[in-house]
Amino acid sequence: MTQQSLDSQRPQRCWLFLRLMTLALGSLLLGSDCRLLPAQGAEAPAGERTYPLPNRLEAVLQPLGTAGDYFEHIAPSPQGYLLWSAWPVQVYLEPSQALVGTAAAQRQAVWQAQAESAIADWSRYLPLETTDDEAQANIVILRKQPPLRWENGKISRARHAETRFRIIPDRDAQGQSCLRHRQTVYVGDRQGPQQLRGTLRHELGHALGLWGHSPNPVDVLYAGQIADPPEISQSDLNTLGKLYGQPTLLGCSG
Ligand SMILES: [Zn+2]
Repeated sequence: MTQQSLDSQRPQRCWLFLRLMTLALGSLLLGSDCRLLPAQGAEAPAGERTYPLPNRLEAVLQPLGTAGDYFEHIAPSPQGYLLWSAWPVQVYLEPSQALVGTAAAQRQAVWQAQAESAIADWSRYLPLETTDDEAQANIVILRKQPPLRWENGKISRARHAETRFRIIPDRDAQGQSCLRHRQTVYVGDRQGPQQLRGTLRHELGHALGLWGHSPNPVDVLYAGQIADPPEISQSDLNTLGKLYGQPTLLGCSG
């Protein structure tokens, strides 16, 4: 499996740390969150494939140059761009767990509503479906602060959000080797509703394959904090359109 994260990532430092720790601890860290190793035990899939654009995305793309895009800032994984090829993408939302009537339950209800809104926002352009089956979900959204990381010789500052992906070797319906991926989004429930929705929309954009940041604050994938978080922009959509036209090794039929 290969796993990487965005928004609180420092891949090179993480990698260096992991290499040092791996030398010291042998296989104890093989399940670490910041591994950048090739998928192990997997035969290489036959080759890169390109998939058709979902109709609802194709319908809203503008000719390039009209609104522009920031595709140059989107990074592929070692196995290709992190696009989905089987629709609808299954999204799991961590359910509320607090006792009804408590402040925690209220916070969790706000988080749930904003997460559902963020899913609805992206569903206008890519087919998404919520599922109760966490194990089978393509995207898992957890109501948790991102796990702390080791950075620069110390534990990292706590952050609001982070998205991580993992590459999973598998076999398709015909028994051929293939690679699936899975995205895990961490967003705590300590922000206000508007910021929370903006954060969830941004992280879900990463989980849908926009693995990078826009330099423009009008885009959802802008990296900075915005007082009034933007709606999904034409530039976000044009970037998504370019992304989903790229070849990738990821994807299993069936
Ligand atoms: Zn981000």
